[in-house]
Amino acid sequence: MSGGDKLDFEIRPNPQPVTAAERAALMVDPGFGRVFTDHMVTARYADGKGWYEARVEARAPIPMDPASAVLHYAQEIFEGLKAYRNADGTVTMFRPEANAARFTTSATRLAMPHLPEGAFVDSLRRLISVDREWIPNDEEGSLYLRPFMFASEVFLGVRPAMEYLYVVIASPVGSYFKHGVKPVNVWVSPNYTRAAPGGTGAAKFGGNYAASLLPQQEAAANGCDQVVFLDAVEQRWIDELGGMNIFFVYDDGTLVTPPLGTILPGITREAIMRLANDDGRAVIERPVAFDEWHADADRGRIREAFACGTAAVITPIGEVRFEGGSFKMGDGTSGDVTMGIRKRLVDIQRGRSADPYGWVHKV
Ligand code: PMP
Repeated sequence: MSGGDKLDFEIRPNPQPVTAAERAALMVDPGFGRVFTDHMVTARYADGKGWYEARVEARAPIPMDPASAVLHYAQEIFEGLKAYRNADGTVTMFRPEANAARFTTSATRLAMPHLPEGAFVDSLRRLISVDREWIPNDEEGSLYLRPFMFASEVFLGVRPAMEYLYVVIASPVGSYFKHGVKPVNVWVSPNYTRAAPGGTGAAKFGGNYAASLLPQQEAAANGCDQVVFLDAVEQRWIDELGGMNIFFVYDDGTLVTPPLGTILPGITREAIMRLANDDGRAVIERPVAFDEWHADADRGRIREAFACGTAAVITPIGEVRFEGGSFKMGDGTSGDVTMGIRKRLVDIQRGRSADPYGWVHKV
């Protein structure tokens, strides 16, 4: 255990890493979240003791007692961010301190202990350092980092656990859009909502995603890639997508996005707001009713809409389907404003243009 904002991570190199040839084969077409690196970070927490046994060690199964609290009451939070290998060989992360801060707010909502934010960022740097060879070399690939924390205490009472495990695993991922950026269809769920006021919508909490699977299946059955959730009170206002925030582009160039509250405060969302605003574009956070979206699309006031998040950065929305109808965004192809903002952000993330914001963090 150590005090302050850092933990002393003990490095225990994997004695049996995969060979370079095996790794190369695994990384040809890694897809998303199927291939994992040789190491993981683990750190334990116990009430009264604090954080201890912080390590970087061989990635391996985690022994679990059947009465571990997380298996029963789902006390678990996570994060997701990427490390990139830039053209000049440097390795960078995008805004890891923002993920650290969100991990803290998620922990608060789930009555979990706080991992010092410096230790969170440090754990990512250490894992990337030992597994550097796993970062894809190509323009579009990246190393997806998945920090998470769960209640490991062996106890069936319903109360915050007194013991936790923090883990980071890493997965090389290919391009989200193999054949260029392609607009997605979205399904407006008539039956399910994601988050109620006072609920857990703003936390990156595993249970939110468990609850989104059935509506996501409904979206797929309706030929859509993603589900759009409406608010839980009036089922009238657009909240967000299953795993992305949403923006509307009005005909005067204004960007509009739903306000924070029940939605996940996306780091991509915030970066887009800041960039667009600094580029002289009006950016407004306000509630948007589904009926307004539909009517403004029909009369040409909203010609583009896009989803945003770490996985695909910015994804144009092509068609919106709902019970009883559908409408298109413009002609259903990727809009110019959307693609312009996408390029602006990706160029900063990939080190191809200057970063006046200090978002890009060298490893
Ligand atoms: N909303 C939800 C529900 C998400 O899961 C994500 C992905 N983390 C986002 C929005 C986008 O967040 P970020 O830009 O931080 O990836």
